[in-house]
Amino acid sequence: MALSRRDALKFSGVAVAALAVSGCAKDEAKPSAQKGATKAATSANMANLPAPKGPRVVVVGGGWSGLSVAKYTKKFAPNADVILVEQRSEFVSCPISNLYLVGAVDLEFLTHDYLQAARENNYTFFHAAATGVDKEARILKTTEGDIAYDHLVLAPGIDYDYAPWGLDATTERRVRQEYPAGFMLSSEHMTIKNKLEDFEEGNFILTVPGGNYRCLPAPYERTCLIADYFKRNEINGKVILLDENPDITIKREGFHSAFDEMYKDYVQYVPNAKIVSIDLENKKVVAGEFDEEYEFADAAFYPHVRGGKLLEICGVAKDTAFNKLEGNIDPFTYEVVGEKNIYVAGDARPMGYSKSGNTANSEGHYLGKLIAGRINSGKDIKWQSPLTVCYSAVSAQPEHAISVRAEYEFEGKKLKGFTNVELSQEWRGKVGENNGKALKEWAKGMYRDMFN
Ligand SMILES: Cc1cc2nc3c(=O)[nH]c(=O)nc-3n(C[C@H](O)[C@H](O)[C@H](O)COP(=O)(O)OP(=O)(O)OC[C@H]3O[C@@H](n4cnc5c(N)ncnc54)[C@H](O)[C@@H]3O)c2cc1C
Repeated sequence: MALSRRDALKFSGVAVAALAVSGCAKDEAKPSAQKGATKAATSANMANLPAPKGPRVVVVGGGWSGLSVAKYTKKFAPNADVILVEQRSEFVSCPISNLYLVGAVDLEFLTHDYLQAARENNYTFFHAAATGVDKEARILKTTEGDIAYDHLVLAPGIDYDYAPWGLDATTERRVRQEYPAGFMLSSEHMTIKNKLEDFEEGNFILTVPGGNYRCLPAPYERTCLIADYFKRNEINGKVILLDENPDITIKREGFHSAFDEMYKDYVQYVPNAKIVSIDLENKKVVAGEFDEEYEFADAAFYPHVRGGKLLEICGVAKDTAFNKLEGNIDPFTYEVVGEKNIYVAGDARPMGYSKSGNTANSEGHYLGKLIAGRINSGKDIKWQSPLTVCYSAVSAQPEHAISVRAEYEFEGKKLKGFTNVELSQEWRGKVGENNGKALKEWAKGMYRDMFN
């Protein structure tokens, strides 16, 4: 089923608004760069790595995108020397973390081993933070030394962008630390879980940002699960969901009916509620066109998102229609405009796809194949649409969920919208129960794909 632009916007809110991707000339493929930078490039601070036996592909960021790109590049170009550079010591999944917040899964379910992923898939895990790139010399700079590359993939995910809320520097710092969003770091998820365990009574404020934010349904899923937790534990609490958007951005019918039917006394949904100010001393938020005031006992403030800071540092970022500083790339090859063999993938991409793990993983399969094709034959493969599959729990006990599956289509270089969409918004009865079961099975399948 092809969606019109209007339908697409209705469906997603923002994810697929047509973006004019101008000035992105598709570069013709370049034959293997084996005789290029890897052999020549060196510096006074080279990392302790063996000399590459084949073209070197360096992937920065061991998230859903980077793990998938590293695995599938090596799979389709076994002679490539693939290195995954990641600053964290273990992988902790953002998907399913809302269930962790309310005690429905433990941290172990979310946590996975980078060394295992590297061993199983014959690439090297390099534990370091990337700090910059020398494009001329084809050297990636890291905290553990420099790495020469033939192909460089930057998949640093998102960073938070509090600027649209106009907070002063002190308030922003305090909000980051005391009321974290829970959309990036595992420490943020732990903080929110502790908040819920200590929660006695009152309002718990959550926010939904504007723009194409990470995981459109997650704030609504979190609202349902916290409300479910309050209800089950007979806590006199209410989730106030301040949504900057005019309505729920995805799976609208499913979430609205869950709020109304299951959590009438536990959820207050407020659309068009952009944050105007946050008063941390008096625990009050002002939001919306009419400056409504909301008191809170506790909160997790989700701000706008932007491309990971590394893109800006490496000089490969641009502002997009929705967010700041995402990758300046060709939408089909992911290659940085005007640069050979540097790519940006995952949530840091500028295309209006859903910023979700399944999307990043399926895109990683494609980009891995594309880079392998360039190494093997110097030819580009045919473009394949990323695949978005997303289950959202609306209750944890019993576990019931709703879901969406969609692909994307282009008109020339312009993203037209979703295609082949399947929505399941029924959380009641057997359908909701089956969606609930499928949710964890989906996650296990994804972890297997990235780590085994
Ligand atoms: C609460 C929540 C629920 C979600 N639910 C779902 C869901 O149900 N389904 C779904 O499909 N998606 C879901 N998502 C979205 C999903 O988590 C993201 O879309 C996905 O993580 C994007 O992958 P990524 O690789 O682009 O970014 P990330 O997974 O964030 O990975 C980026 C990695 O880059 C590393 N990095 C950044 N800078 C550097 C540097 N300079 N040097 C070295 N390493 C660096 C980071 O440490 C990080 O490990 C959810 C997200 C959240 C927060």
